[in-house]
Amino acid sequence: MATQRTRPIIAIDGPAGAGKSIVARRLAAELGFTFVDTGALYRALAFVARKAGVATDDATMLGDLANTLVRTHALRFDFGTTGTRVYHDGTEISTSLRTSDVGIAASLVSAHAEVRDAFLELQRELGESGGVVFEGRDIGTVVFPEADVKFFLTASPQVRAERRVTEQQNKGENVSFSDTLTQVQRRDQLDSMRVVAPLRRAKDAAIIDSSALTIDETVLLMAHNIRAFDFSTEE
Ligand code: C5P
Repeated sequence: MATQRTRPIIAIDGPAGAGKSIVARRLAAELGFTFVDTGALYRALAFVARKAGVATDDATMLGDLANTLVRTHALRFDFGTTGTRVYHDGTEISTSLRTSDVGIAASLVSAHAEVRDAFLELQRELGESGGVVFEGRDIGTVVFPEADVKFFLTASPQVRAERRVTEQQNKGENVSFSDTLTQVQRRDQLDSMRVVAPLRRAKDAAIIDSSALTIDETVLLMAHNIRAFDFSTEE
């Protein structure tokens, strides 16, 4: 599909814990691109909805809330190279969004069409001029089906749970492997079974299984795939 962009859009989709964020951030830094972590939108909505007492199954209220947050700019996202910073009504909420509770709540709220519609235009605007690495679940299938390069980054549930445990330990939090594995599997199920924009590989996405790869190796592999792509044929 012809686009107005002069720089490419790179889509990285895949399940929770496959290493998308770190890999996408590194790749963006290497290419001099912006990195957009779209999970932050759904996490922020889940967080604000909980504060406002809106239930995760109230599609209409959640859709209205998401639309209002976008329209009034009450939510602000700063997709910097060192990490995503999120502000609600001027207060930074970035750290609060990283908990597993908010992750599960984000999976629940993101299953509603009303919510996904509310965030669609915002994501497309972020990619308007290209030069962006987007990380999410439906970037290559729904948000940018015309993305220049698409990856589906995955890893076994066990490896993803182990990575989560290490990540939490590094933050000084002790979590059990079996609880983490259950959460990883629950999120996989929620994300891939939902009717709207389920997690699935775009037909034209390259599958990368990072189970046995280091972060460096994964970034290298992706950068190699991107270089093999001839952007000059794009408008
Ligand atoms: O990637 P992250 O773990 O931050 O995403 C939190 C949740 O938000 C995911 O489990 C998924 O349900 C939802 N999400 C989504 N579409 C995206 C990004 C995230 O549905 N593009």
